[in-house]
Amino acid sequence: MLLPVLVLLLATLPAGADVDEECFEDTFCIETSESDEGIALTVRPLVAWDITLRVDMELTNLTPSRQLPLVVGLGSRLPESLLDLSIEEPGLPWSFSFTFEWITGRLNAQHARSVTYALPYDPGTARTVGQGFNGAISHQGKFAIDWDMPIGTPVRAARSGLVVATEDGYRQGGNDPSLKSRANYVRIRHDDGTIGNYVHMSPGGVRVRVGERVREGAVIGLSGNTGFSTGPHLHFEVYAITKNLERRTIPVEFRTRGRSAQILQEGRAYGH
Ligand SMILES: [Zn+2]
Repeated sequence: MLLPVLVLLLATLPAGADVDEECFEDTFCIETSESDEGIALTVRPLVAWDITLRVDMELTNLTPSRQLPLVVGLGSRLPESLLDLSIEEPGLPWSFSFTFEWITGRLNAQHARSVTYALPYDPGTARTVGQGFNGAISHQGKFAIDWDMPIGTPVRAARSGLVVATEDGYRQGGNDPSLKSRANYVRIRHDDGTIGNYVHMSPGGVRVRVGERVREGAVIGLSGNTGFSTGPHLHFEVYAITKNLERRTIPVEFRTRGRSAQILQEGRAYGH
C-alpha cells in the first residue's frame, strides 16, 4: 500500500531577471525569459519518461496565456513552451511566483485493452491472493493485488516496460500506518503510459536500475515486508495519473494456468 508522494516547491524570481533557469530534482527545468511584452516560461524535461506537472502562479500586473492552475503532461526531453505572461500596464511594477507539483507518469494514460499480465513470480509456483481488488484490509477503492510470499521470493515483471523509479533503502515493516511511506518498490512504465508498481520489496532487494528496460518475466527484485504490511507479501497495482496528480488504479487481468485472462480472486492460489 502506497500513497502518492508529491513534491512541492516554490520559486520566486525577482522582477528584472532576463533569462533564468531553475531545475527541480533532476526531473525538469523551467526557463523564464523576459522581454518588453512579458515573460515566457519554457519547460525542459530531464528524464526520458512521462511526468505530469501542475503549475500555479501568483501574478501581479501580468496575464497568463493559459488558465491556471495548468496541468501538462511531458513526454520527452524536448523543451516545450509552458505559458506566456503578458504585462498588463507597461511601466507599472509586475511580479510573479510559481508553485509546481509533479508526479511520474503520463497524464490520463489509457490502458491498452488487449493487454494481460503475467503472474509476477516463478513459473511452476502458485501463490495465494491474500487481498484482491477493493480488499477490506487496505485496498478500499483500489484495484490492487497482494500475493502472500516469503521474504526473498524472486519478483518478476508482470509486463515489459521501462524502470522509472526504485527504492530499496527501507528496512522496517509492520502493521503500522505510519510506515506507509516507507515501503521499498519498483515502478515500471508500460508502453501505454500506465505504471506497474511492485511494493514491499526486501531491503537492498531491488535488482533493476532506473532507466533500464525490462522484459516481462525478468527478475526485478526480491519480495519482502517493508512499509505498512501485515506480513510478507507482494503488492501490485497498475495505475494512470489523473489531472489531480493522483494515481488511479486500473483493474487488470492475469494469465494463469489454463486461463488466458482473468481477474484474480481473494483467497485463491494461482500458478502459471
Ligand atoms: Zn496491498
